[in-house]
Amino acid sequence: MQETDILVVGAGAAGASLGYLLKQAGKDVLLLEMLDAKKKNKLCAGIIEHRAEQAFMDIFGKTLDEAGLATMPMEKMLVRHDAYEMSHTMPKNNQSAQGKTQDLARADEKTQGFAANLRNYLKKGGKIAAKMAVKKAAGYEPGVVSYKALPRKRFDDYVLNSYLEAGGRLLDHTTVRSIDKERQVARCVNLVTKKTFEIKYNTLVGADGATSIVRRLLTGKRQSTTLALEAPVPLTLRETVIYLRPVDHGYFWYIPRGKDATVGCVYHKLGCRDSEIRKHFAACCADMGIKMENKIRGALIPDGSDVLLQPAEHCFLIGEAAGLSDNFTGGGIHYALLSAKALADALQGKKTYDEAMKPQLDAVHKNCSNANIYFAAGGKVVEFLGKKKTN
Ligand SMILES: Cc1cc2nc3c(=O)[nH]c(=O)nc-3n(C[C@H](O)[C@H](O)[C@H](O)COP(=O)(O)OP(=O)(O)OC[C@H]3O[C@@H](n4cnc5c(N)ncnc54)[C@H](O)[C@@H]3O)c2cc1C
Repeated sequence: MQETDILVVGAGAAGASLGYLLKQAGKDVLLLEMLDAKKKNKLCAGIIEHRAEQAFMDIFGKTLDEAGLATMPMEKMLVRHDAYEMSHTMPKNNQSAQGKTQDLARADEKTQGFAANLRNYLKKGGKIAAKMAVKKAAGYEPGVVSYKALPRKRFDDYVLNSYLEAGGRLLDHTTVRSIDKERQVARCVNLVTKKTFEIKYNTLVGADGATSIVRRLLTGKRQSTTLALEAPVPLTLRETVIYLRPVDHGYFWYIPRGKDATVGCVYHKLGCRDSEIRKHFAACCADMGIKMENKIRGALIPDGSDVLLQPAEHCFLIGEAAGLSDNFTGGGIHYALLSAKALADALQGKKTYDEAMKPQLDAVHKNCSNANIYFAAGGKVVEFLGKKKTN
């Protein structure tokens, strides 16, 4: 039987960041990954919001660019809905460790100004539905206006290498088959050799994403998720394009991220009705003149309705395994990093994990219960503020 103080299952953004922080604090950590951690390529649009970059800086002490991650700032966004489209120029936010506070303050000011303008405009529009939507959506504080994009593998490689360089142990192609909570033992299997073995832990952490096996073994339930589709495409446009579909609570995206771009979509109301999603995906690609040369892949995202931080004594969940995801945008990198930092602090006797995660839980709950309002308001905003599409 192997032994470790802290056993972390899943070497993604959350698990590897937690491992890095714990190694920096001199803890004994063992990370399990069901794939080949260095080769895996997570399906992701690769957008890093400024709160994610801030969390990255809090963990690694560097901005993304200082870490050599070469991001592409999102400069312009075109939002389409039915026959209308609305263009929005994003505020410049080139963060550096020193300029951080000032930049964030400027970004928040800009967001609030933008939200206030939209509200005023819609009030003048006089339509009852729009007024209601905006009134309800007034509680939505985007709080994030700086977006950068990069190929996700580059980001994940940095986080994993930081953990390994800090002396972290990693078992590839390994997963958990059962958990004995009383004995604090995880029964594991190497998926290549099929060899089974036990690992004794003091603390067990599920960082194994939206389909978390740790969560399932400890609670007997799968978490509530929705399907996202995505494929890389050539970089044809430097502008981000979003097709809003308020009726399905979802959207299609085209996101430039340096050498290439990605297209993808997530529709919450359709759940996993694959054929409907694929039909709309194809229609949006055709509308943009995009020919699909690469395979479209699918992955699940938590829908934010099912957050769970501590499923059992000595056991914790972080990132998507905890159900931390923004129901409105589908974004979750910032939650992965924030939950990793909060748990690392808690395991070193600082604030409890629950306490530190309170603001994140409130945000997830708010976005989840208001998602239909945000999507409806989004559609109205594009209709009122936008202009008729030219193509
Ligand atoms: C199509 C798509 C686009 C997205 N775009 C964005 C975006 O642009 N910006 C953003 O912020 N978020 C985005 N997200 C969400 C974001 O990718 C996740 O929120 C984030 O990766 C969560 O990090 P995590 O470490 O919790 O999980 P993951 O990154 O999924 O890592 C989990 C790790 O656990 C491993 N694992 C899984 N099961 C097991 C098991 N049984 N045993 C051992 N290991 C296991 C996996 O192989 C993986 O390495 C997107 C998601 C999808 C699906």
